[in-house]
Amino acid sequence: MSVQKAETKKEVYNPYETAIKQLERAAKTMDLEQSAVEVLKYPRRVLTVAIPVKMDDGSVKVFTGFRSQHNDALGPFKGGVRYHPNVTVDEVKALSMWMTWKCAVAGLPYGGAKGGVIVDPHKLSVGELERLSRGYFQAISTIVGPYQDIPAPDVYTNAQVMAWFMDEYSRVKGFNNFGVVTGKPIVVGGSLGRDTATARGLSFVVEEAAKKLGLKLKESTVAVQGYGNAGMYVHRFLEELGAKVVAVSDSKGGIFSPSGLKYSEVAKHKSETGSVVDFKGAKNITNEELLEAEVDILVPAALENQITDRNASKIRASLVVEAANGPTTPEADDILWKEGVTVVPDVLANSGGVTVSYFEWVQNLQNYYWSAEQVDSALKQKMVAAFGEVWNTSKKYSVDMRQGAYIYAIGKVVEAMRQRGWI
Ligand code: GLU
Repeated sequence: MSVQKAETKKEVYNPYETAIKQLERAAKTMDLEQSAVEVLKYPRRVLTVAIPVKMDDGSVKVFTGFRSQHNDALGPFKGGVRYHPNVTVDEVKALSMWMTWKCAVAGLPYGGAKGGVIVDPHKLSVGELERLSRGYFQAISTIVGPYQDIPAPDVYTNAQVMAWFMDEYSRVKGFNNFGVVTGKPIVVGGSLGRDTATARGLSFVVEEAAKKLGLKLKESTVAVQGYGNAGMYVHRFLEELGAKVVAVSDSKGGIFSPSGLKYSEVAKHKSETGSVVDFKGAKNITNEELLEAEVDILVPAALENQITDRNASKIRASLVVEAANGPTTPEADDILWKEGVTVVPDVLANSGGVTVSYFEWVQNLQNYYWSAEQVDSALKQKMVAAFGEVWNTSKKYSVDMRQGAYIYAIGKVVEAMRQRGWI
């Protein structure tokens, strides 16, 4: 099974249903009142937009885009925009709910949102991609803003797309608005360290988890599924911590080498050939084999629904750290919990990205820019604190770390809703 094939199973594993199941499960454990659960089940607003784009051949193609704003009790909505052919409205709704929990877990003054456009950006020219990006942002411009909703990169979007978003919004408003989007290029208000932030934050979490579990990173082996902005840098940072990364993959397949894969060499191979597969000295494997590899630490860094009831019992890692959003289904969570596998959930493990997005936004609002060292140490502080809160909550309730994270996050959001008089 490749990542590509797993995506077509979206019909079977609906991420929004997963998100609601996770919410209800945590709500039950913490004995949360039903009215709060009802409010939290639904995004406050979901906007669907049609985006006409002039293609290079003179034709006009209409793309569909979404922006889901889940909850803004703790502050303005925040969350990325993904470009992917399999984007669905339910996926975007789930991702927006996960952003609400993520921002609360990370201790950020934000709510949760997410956007998506149904498109394979690899099939567009640069000009088409720019026109699509400007069209999408113009279409959602009335509901976003530095104090309203602040988009950012996600799957298959990057700093260039963020620059177009920011520029389009600034044109609509008539003046520069750097704070409307994060993940921008440095020269137009981006923050140092934002590009590596998700993986950097994850590496701090891995260090904390290893301490708790008595895992020696220098003797540990790692498999990373996905080699985008998150997966690639996870390889680099875990290697820097002394762990041996023995398997990595992307949408085209994976590679395995028991003696370890060097980050600099694999990254070079990927940039030259477009994929990690066929790397010299390594064995080609499938994405399914990667998930089931004999390693200590598994990092899913691709898409949703990778660890399910079908393969959870075959996972051999003792620590799963979710760089992707929603890679594990609730049924798989149960299996892994029973088997004693520690899962550090997405809303904690990959919150380094949105945390440095927050730092970027703060810098934009103040027009004062930080050094890379300042960003790194502030990120570490936030990640270590968030890990501690989630760990302690999961111990207090004798539940897995996902429920611990949810209970901690939901508690904060519900308290804010109560103080504001929403419930
Ligand atoms: N897309 C990233 C996430 O899922 C980053 C969001 C942000 O920086 O707002 O966390």
